[in-house]
Amino acid sequence: MTVSTKVRELKNYINGKWTTSTNKDLNKVINPATQEVIATAPRATKEETERAIQIAKETFESGVWSDLTAQERAQYLYKVADKIDERFEEIVELEVTNNGKIKAEAEFDIGDAADCFRYYAALIKAPSGEVYNVPEPMQTMVVKEPVGVAGLVVPWNLPFLMSVWKLAPALAAGNTVVLKPAELTPVTAMILFEIFEEVGIPKGVANLVMGKGSVVGQTLAESNDVDAISFTGSTEVGRGIMRAAAGNLKKISLELGGKSPNVIFADADMETAVDYALFGIYFGAGQVCSAGSRILVEESIHDEFVEKMVERAKQIKVGPGLDEDSQVGAMVSQSQLETVLNYIDIGVKEGATLACGGNRLTKGALKNGFFIEPTLFTNVTSDMRIVQEEIFGPVAVIQKFKGEKDAIELANDTDYGLAGAVFSSDGAKALRVIKKIRAGITWINAYHPTYNETPWGGYKQSGIGHSLGIYGLEDFQEVKQININLEVEPTGWF
Ligand code: NDP
Repeated sequence: MTVSTKVRELKNYINGKWTTSTNKDLNKVINPATQEVIATAPRATKEETERAIQIAKETFESGVWSDLTAQERAQYLYKVADKIDERFEEIVELEVTNNGKIKAEAEFDIGDAADCFRYYAALIKAPSGEVYNVPEPMQTMVVKEPVGVAGLVVPWNLPFLMSVWKLAPALAAGNTVVLKPAELTPVTAMILFEIFEEVGIPKGVANLVMGKGSVVGQTLAESNDVDAISFTGSTEVGRGIMRAAAGNLKKISLELGGKSPNVIFADADMETAVDYALFGIYFGAGQVCSAGSRILVEESIHDEFVEKMVERAKQIKVGPGLDEDSQVGAMVSQSQLETVLNYIDIGVKEGATLACGGNRLTKGALKNGFFIEPTLFTNVTSDMRIVQEEIFGPVAVIQKFKGEKDAIELANDTDYGLAGAVFSSDGAKALRVIKKIRAGITWINAYHPTYNETPWGGYKQSGIGHSLGIYGLEDFQEVKQININLEVEPTGWF
C-alpha cells in the first residue's frame, strides 16, 4: 500500500474531540529522506495543555475508566491491538516517511506495539497484590490502584512504539493520560488516537496534545494535577523534568540516554560477534538509546575484528526507508545530522583513527536527505568526547582491552548505564562480566532483542523507573495496604 502524498493536517485529541490550536504557528513536519513537508501539526499553548490535563483529571475522578473492571479495560486494549494489525501497512509507511527509518525496522516496531497492548491487557487480568501475615489478628492485603493522571512525553526515534510503551500500561492500570509526541514525529500518534476513538475508549481518557517540549512537555512536568510523568529522551531534559516534577512530588519514570559497551572476548565466535556489533550500532541508524556505541575488543583479536567489521560496514546500503534495498535509513533531522557530523569532526580532532565512514551521503536519491555513512573510530582513549558522550547516530568507537578486569573497568567507565553485552564462548566468564556491568539491559552473545515481558530501564544517568514488563505497569500504579481487623472490639488503650 502507498499512503497518500497529500500534506496531512494533524490535530490534537482532547475530551474526545479533534481540535486545532489558537496558536497559528504550525509545526511543518518533514520526511527526513527528502525534506518534503508531509504534515502540519498544532503547537498547543500552555492553556490548551492545562485544559487537557483538567479533562484528564475530571475523567479520572468520574470513574468512567478507573472503575471499569480489569477485564473491561482489557477488552478495549485487545481491540486497539486488532486495529493496529488492520492498519499495519499504513502505520509502517507513515512511520518510515516521518522518521526516516527503514521499513523492516518500522514493521518490527508496529508489530511489537500491537503485542504490547495485548501483553498489558493480559497482565492487568493476572493475579495482583498480596496478602501479608502481620503480628495482630488482622488480615492485611496489598492492592494496586491507578496513580491518576499520567503525562507521557515521547521522543522521535521510535515514535509509535515509545508512545505505546507508555500508553498501554498507563491505560491498562486505569489511569487517564495526556500524550505529547515529539515535534519531529507526531504523524503516527494521530493514527493511534483515531484507533482509540474507533474502539470507543471513553472521551477524556486518552488525550493527545502536540507542541513544543518547552511548552507542552514542561506544563505536564510542572502541573500539580498530573500525578505521574513518564519521559523518554535526553538526560539533560530528563534532569529538568525531575526538577519540575518536584512541585507536587509526582511519580517519575525517566528513560534516558546511553553509551553502552559491547564487550567481545577473544574466545567469542568471530562472525557472530561482528554481525551483532554491526546490528548493535547501525540498527535505527544508531538513533537508539541502547545502541552498542562502545565496542570493546580483547587485544589478541582486535586487528582481525576491526578489519572484518570495517569490511562489513562499508557494504551497508544506506538509503530511503521505503526502498527495499536500504539497510540503514536517515537521521531524523537536519539538527541531528549536524550533531552527528560535528561529533565525527570532534573525533578526528581528538586524534582517533577514522577506520571507515565519516561522511554525509548526497548522491542521487539521497541528495536532499539526512544520510550518514556507517562510521567507526579506532585508536580511541577513554577521555575522548566520542567515547564518553552519546552521539545518537551511526558512529561507534572500538577500544582494546586486556582480560576480564580491564574489560569491566572500561565497560563501566561512563556516566550512563542503560545497556551492555558480552560475547564469549565461556559461559561462566560471560556471566561474571555481565553481572559486573552497571547497566539495566544486558545480553550475552546477542545485542538488542527487546521483549514486552521484561523490564526496560537504566542505571546511573540512564534513568529512573522502567518501561515494559510488570515493572512498566507498576510505574503507573499506587500501592495500598488494607488492614482488616478480625476481632472487632475496642482496643482498651485509653
Ligand atoms: P529531547 O530530550 O529534547 O526530546 C525528547 C522529548 O522531550 C520530545 O518530545 C521533546 O519535545 C520533549 N521535551 C523537550 N524539552 C522538554 C522540556 N523542557 N520539558 C518536557 N519535555 C521536553 O531529545 P532531542 O529530541 O532533543 O534529542 C537530543 C538527544 O536526546 C539525542 O541526541 C539523544 O542523545 C537523546 N535521545 C534519547 C532518546 C532515548 O530513546 N533515550 C530518544 C531521543 C533522544 P520536542 O522535541 O517536541 O520539543
